[in-house]
Amino acid sequence: MGENKFYRVYSTYLKEKYGEKVYKLPINLPVTCPNRDGCVGYGGCIFCGEEGAGFENIENTVPVKEQILKNMEYIKKRYKAKKFIAYFQNFTNTYMELEEFKKVIKQAIMGDIVEISISTRPDCISDEYLEFLDTVKKDHDIDITIELGLQTVNYHTLKKINRGHTLSEFIDSVLRIKKYGFEICVHLILNLPWDNRIDVIENAKLLSALKVNHVKLHSLYIVENTVLGKMYKENKVKLNSKKDYIESVITFLEYLHPDIVVQRLLGRAPKENTLFVNWNTSWWKIKDEILAEMEQRETYQGKKCNYLNGKALKKF
Ligand code: SF4
Repeated sequence: MGENKFYRVYSTYLKEKYGEKVYKLPINLPVTCPNRDGCVGYGGCIFCGEEGAGFENIENTVPVKEQILKNMEYIKKRYKAKKFIAYFQNFTNTYMELEEFKKVIKQAIMGDIVEISISTRPDCISDEYLEFLDTVKKDHDIDITIELGLQTVNYHTLKKINRGHTLSEFIDSVLRIKKYGFEICVHLILNLPWDNRIDVIENAKLLSALKVNHVKLHSLYIVENTVLGKMYKENKVKLNSKKDYIESVITFLEYLHPDIVVQRLLGRAPKENTLFVNWNTSWWKIKDEILAEMEQRETYQGKKCNYLNGKALKKF
């Protein structure tokens, strides 16, 4: 049972869904982000480094098909894997002309790819792009997951971290994606210095109310040559303690609907150029601490998810 008794674990979910272990193949596209190139903002989110989210990928100049085949071959040999997810991970993978987007996605359609997962921003989702993905799903029997960066439901904090979109745009993108029945994974940073525990709870409540499918939790890491890095060096941000992060994760899980799959409890960061990450502790040690604390408190995901469907009417 292990960690499954505390929260809905992603690897277990994939095994249930596909009948065996499924591996993600990261794909690195030469794309940027509308929040970096001036379309909605310059410089990007205050924590975003030059590499975007994926720092372990193949060079983005390598064609998509080649990237997939190279990684697939390696994982097939090493783990005898048979099913894969093509994962467009870095920056904003729908931020390109529709025809270009179609070409890119078509390269990922091949045998043994059971799912295409695309990371993007809420303001880079539109019906036209979703229509195309719907044809991929129907014609090739490939599942589609859209990963949306939100980071926090606190729209004042969204402004402070220079996200370039608000909460409304996130809700619009979720409702649009849901019309096509694609799965949605939402990224959140649970310890943004401008958020408090009320925001942590509201994060869980909003995702539960919107019935998104997955969530990825991150702890804030600070990279050199970013606005946040500069603030950190000048002592202009105060980071919460590890203990506080653990408390936030547990609180978040307690309020999160039990159906939502939790893909991770905290992130990892490249060592190079990183000024602060995970309180200098391995991510798996922090994860163990979270689970030990949950065991001790006899708590679990969804324990406090009693607020949907007319909470006040439940007394009758
Ligand atoms: S939306 Fe993502 S890629 Fe764009 S600036 Fe923010 S973190 Fe970086």
